[in-house]
Amino acid sequence: MNNIQRLQVKKYISDLLTIHDAEAVFITALPDIRWASGFSGSNGLLLVKPDAVHFITDGRYREQAQDEVKGATIHVPGYALMANLAESGLLEDVTSVAFQADQVTVAELESWKPHFPNVTWQPVENMLTRQVASKSADEIQRIRAAQAITDAVFEHLLGFIQPGQREVEVAAEIVYQHLQRGAARMSFDPIVAGGAHGALPHKRPTDRVLRQGDMVVLDFGCVLHGYASDMTRTIALGEPGEQARAVYSVVLAAQERAIDAVQAGLSTQALDGMARDAITAAGYGDYFNHGLGHGIGLQTHEWPRISYHVDDELPEGAVVTIEPGIYLPEQFGVRIEDMVVVRANGCENLTASPKSLIVL
Ligand code: ZN
Ligand code: ZN
Repeated sequence: MNNIQRLQVKKYISDLLTIHDAEAVFITALPDIRWASGFSGSNGLLLVKPDAVHFITDGRYREQAQDEVKGATIHVPGYALMANLAESGLLEDVTSVAFQADQVTVAELESWKPHFPNVTWQPVENMLTRQVASKSADEIQRIRAAQAITDAVFEHLLGFIQPGQREVEVAAEIVYQHLQRGAARMSFDPIVAGGAHGALPHKRPTDRVLRQGDMVVLDFGCVLHGYASDMTRTIALGEPGEQARAVYSVVLAAQERAIDAVQAGLSTQALDGMARDAITAAGYGDYFNHGLGHGIGLQTHEWPRISYHVDDELPEGAVVTIEPGIYLPEQFGVRIEDMVVVRANGCENLTASPKSLIVL
């Protein structure tokens, strides 16, 4: 059985049709299509009607759709999906369609309209967002397997990184080692940021040479069987000095405090506050300038955001990152990031790499 056939999703779709007075739902975002049907290609559409689910793709994916798609009737009419969908008659008696308003461009919506002159388009935001966030045991297993590769690469790096290497060299090694270990791709371009570069939370790797005494922020992850991993560790190349050690301890204590608090139903804003308050109490509040974490799964950044800006309840089964940081301009940065599964009474940490300060 696939996700779209599961009872709670069926109920959600039927409620959606009622609320929006629609007779069909378009699911067009590729990660949501994959989540609902299993299809992992780059062109497709799920058309959900009260009595049937249709999957429409083009000729390149004929065989792949037959292998992957469960719980939907497959149609392979040709490359021009909407023109062919109109010809197919699947929307013949449909006058109102709910669609993913935050996943469709204005131009895409305009291009649909001429094909279905009788259809009223009902914009729905955050369609399936909560359903996608609560992971099944199989999905959690895939994330765990992706993180196991990332943990193994970190262990390898501890014997690889040396003063004199450029950041880009280390980044290339991170990519190479993930692919060697079976990752399909990286979940984002790795961050390798030494010394003052570490004070820029999303600094791209450069030709800067790593030096003795640098703190080095390493943030990377991979995709395996569709699901992403994401981890940050900050290591020291040689003795880092008193202030760097102190900052590291503050970040680690804040991260562990937040992880200890995670459980289903907790407010994301309150969770962010637990780490932020610990960092502020230590005098570094102005230097933690991003949210505490994010959901992760088929996409590296998913709902929920764990931030002081938005308040949601952590859903059971969601996989989220906990990644506080302190960034001292022109000096160094420290960030520590783990992925945890939100459980009813706590959480399960999927990240195995050590967190005490490693001095190479
Ligand atoms: Zn990360
Ligand atoms: Zn992250």
